[in-house]
Amino acid sequence: MARKILVVEDEALIADAVAARLRSEGYEVQSAADGPSGVEHARRWEPDLVILDLMLPGLDGLEVCRRIQKDRHLPVLMLTARDDETDLVIGLAVGADDYLTKPFSPRELVLRVQAVMRRSLGEFTVEAPFEVGEFHLDPSARIVRRHGEAVPLSGREFDLFAFFLKHPRRAFTREELLRSVWGWDFGDLSTVTVTVRRLREKTEPDPANPTRLRTVWGVGYRFDPDGAA
Ligand code: CA
Repeated sequence: MARKILVVEDEALIADAVAARLRSEGYEVQSAADGPSGVEHARRWEPDLVILDLMLPGLDGLEVCRRIQKDRHLPVLMLTARDDETDLVIGLAVGADDYLTKPFSPRELVLRVQAVMRRSLGEFTVEAPFEVGEFHLDPSARIVRRHGEAVPLSGREFDLFAFFLKHPRRAFTREELLRSVWGWDFGDLSTVTVTVRRLREKTEPDPANPTRLRTVWGVGYRFDPDGAA
């Protein structure tokens, strides 16, 4: 069965070009031209992925992203203009999986869509839950618990934290994390920095002085399950 992609974009030229290209790649595509109808469409049609413009009439892309992610993780690829950097950071924080800056090439779009799809398919493989330090990871249910309490994580935050829990006490560069967790061979390294910061806020006793997700100067990050000072 063809995978379903919802395109939420108010610029008709872009929406049509994106839809045509994705259809030629074998995807089933529907479009919405404003925020509220994007939310409505996502609920009713249950797409496998949403391509979401940041600047939309009615509700902006960030709010649309929040609403469609309320009940379940739905892969989101955000479209942004070059000046939307702050919004973009928020976008990645509210649960977008990836983004493309306009103007982008059709080939870039298809590659990003394929990467997000691959990653979300990976969510269906069954992996046994395990404990690391004070954390309990259930990869298949996509739940992290700390002292028995579920930690609320967005899609990408979960992926990154699960990666650290699976590879404790090993330092990784931001490039390695971008490749292993995001599936990008190149991209903005601040994406990793921002996600680590969000994770610290949610998992560290004192986020300003992290003892679990540590910065390894000149390298990147390392997860220390014991949280030794
Ligand atoms: Ca727009």
